[in-house]
Amino acid sequence: QLEHPQRIRSSGGRIPHLKYLPIAASESLASGRGIQVVSPSPDHSFHLDLEALSALLLREDLKDRAVVVVSVAGAFRKGKSFLLDFFLRYLHHTYILEGSGDWLGSEDEPLRGFSWRGGSKRDTTGLLLWSQPFKATLSNGEKVVILLMDTQGTFDSMSTVHDNVTVFALSTMLSSVQIYNLSQNIEEDDLQQLQLFTEYGRLAARGGGGKPFQKLQMLVRDWSFTSDYAYGAEGGRQLLEKWLEIPEGQHEDLQAVRRDITSCFEELACFLMPHPGLIVARNPKFDGKISDIDPEFKKSLRELVPMLLAPQNLVPKRIQGAAVRARDLLLYFKAYLGVFNGTELPQPKTILQATAEANNLSAVAEARATYDAQMEEASGGAQPYMTPAQLDKEHRRARDKALEAFRSRRKLGGQELASSYETQLIKELDEEYKEFSAHNESKKPRMTGTPVVFAGVALLG
Ligand code: GDP
Ligand code: MG
Repeated sequence: QLEHPQRIRSSGGRIPHLKYLPIAASESLASGRGIQVVSPSPDHSFHLDLEALSALLLREDLKDRAVVVVSVAGAFRKGKSFLLDFFLRYLHHTYILEGSGDWLGSEDEPLRGFSWRGGSKRDTTGLLLWSQPFKATLSNGEKVVILLMDTQGTFDSMSTVHDNVTVFALSTMLSSVQIYNLSQNIEEDDLQQLQLFTEYGRLAARGGGGKPFQKLQMLVRDWSFTSDYAYGAEGGRQLLEKWLEIPEGQHEDLQAVRRDITSCFEELACFLMPHPGLIVARNPKFDGKISDIDPEFKKSLRELVPMLLAPQNLVPKRIQGAAVRARDLLLYFKAYLGVFNGTELPQPKTILQATAEANNLSAVAEARATYDAQMEEASGGAQPYMTPAQLDKEHRRARDKALEAFRSRRKLGGQELASSYETQLIKELDEEYKEFSAHNESKKPRMTGTPVVFAGVALLG
């Protein structure tokens, strides 16, 4: 039998079909690194490293998994990266080593992972993803991949305020768990950052898909008013409750944020973290050794980290109720970078529009995959030649399935937007069909066999 060359897939549409790019051969934490996926350009717009991001999110073993994106955001030099490195320890211990022994590690082991401290040199702003994704299975059987996101803001001049707000906004839009890292207490100023999302949330809710965001975890560092509220989740809950009460005569905007924040996030939580001790806070030689950290801090880490990252507590990202898979997340990165690159912050309705477009694009991609799978099964490499009429029948069947998949997905942006993407989908499917036809034709049996048979008979005779 003739060997047929592998059908070359087009990279049609707007979804890149990148080849599998292996990340790290080793799974040890030491071989991982923070990949800077979003970085600022000198003109204060932001640049997306599409190649690095695609290499991670389109990995063959990850692209179809739902994502759990855990981000830590907030002001500069408040221990965000330091904390993330404990997250890494826990994730590595739980999902790679499959959990024997103590996840916090030995007393004298320096802390590895996202770089913290950074010395005197100014870090660049932007978003980083840890290069090693962690695979997990939820209790309902859903296969997910956990991605850790570090954010960096700058601190030194007014011109960077815009950058900081942008980094905060991007990380909130892209994560399923946003950890809002605050120093010492929840202040009114911290509310300002959230205003954009409450407005966005109001608009998105009109689309009828439930709350637009999953979890907002406030994390107060160096909490010291323990006679008012105790360290940990319970003290945090009480503080948050108090803080959400609307004080008499408060500015209308802030009242609205307080009111609306609960309708934007499926879950709102607060945790009060003790001071890590003077060695952590002040000693320039501190390298993250557990033995140098205040026991109270370690105790709180043991409460906080599993609360966020244990298998039963993972929160996958959803948009319009549908799980966002790794390959969809790439579309959202592109969409949000597109709208957050101006000198002004985008309006909530612009962000919503971008979300709706990415949402439709991901539905198109899913429908295309449905079509491909059907056609591949009917007429792919291993299948025999079929007549054009037979192939056409398969095409129609597969196309109907794909259209049904597209239409049954709840999508942001209304019918009009969905129709235009449906038109695009049909065009793409017709293109695919042409390829399948050409491939099928290449399998058509040729009438060259007869003389060979005669020759064989002649030889035998
Ligand atoms: P980031 O800029 O928010 O990522 O902050 P880093 O994680 O780089 O930490 C900045 C400095 O704060 C480091 O010197 C840490 O040792 C120290 N640090 C880490 N966690 C805490 C904390 O909870 N409280 C205090 N006071 N310092 C911390
Ligand atoms: Mg940092």
